[in-house]
Amino acid sequence: MQPCWALMVRLDQRLLPEQDVYSDMSQIVRWVSRNNSKPGRTSGGDHIVVHAAPTWTRQTEDMEPEAVAEELWAEVSHVLSLPPVRPAQMAAHLWRHGLCDTPLGETYMFAREHMVGVGGDWCRGRLAEHAFESGAALGGAIVEAFS
Ligand SMILES: Cc1cc2nc3c(=O)[nH]c(=O)nc-3n(C[C@H](O)[C@H](O)[C@H](O)COP(=O)(O)OP(=O)(O)OC[C@H]3O[C@@H](n4cnc5c(N)ncnc54)[C@H](O)[C@@H]3O)c2cc1C
Repeated sequence: MQPCWALMVRLDQRLLPEQDVYSDMSQIVRWVSRNNSKPGRTSGGDHIVVHAAPTWTRQTEDMEPEAVAEELWAEVSHVLSLPPVRPAQMAAHLWRHGLCDTPLGETYMFAREHMVGVGGDWCRGRLAEHAFESGAALGGAIVEAFS
């Protein structure tokens, strides 16, 4: 598993350009997304989630979250050429085992003779849909084993 610094930023004004998601921005920032554009969210400003790159996260695992937040926001502002704006709120959190590096390559594992199974995003990838696929398929296998 790879560690991942995640940064939450709340801005009182709309600041990001039109695009809602940016990937592989630099050696520091891997992903930026506008959270307030999800359906049902209304906000006057921008709510942004930032993921740091895995290598940079490893190098900075021991840093204070406040310092990481400042560095990540400075980098996002730089790569997106944003005007200098102080966020109304921001917080960084280290997900030490955040994202799967090398998936299993199978949707789940289930040992019928012991009636034990395991599943999760790490079986197929690193996203919520991989977790859903894995859980749904494992559930199917369990139901089948009982019938
Ligand atoms: C910062 C961050 C942001 C992300 N953003 C996105 C995104 O925008 N879109 C997307 O698709 N994916 C995103 N992901 C990935 C997504 O969160 C995961 O793919 C998904 O949550 C994996 O689901 P899961 O059920 O496999 O595991 P988890 O959601 O990790 O669930 C595992 C559960 O098991 C519990 N658990 C662990 N050990 C034990 C134990 N011993 N006993 C009992 N319970 C235990 C945990 O508490 C947890 O509730 C993100 C991940 C991170 C870290």
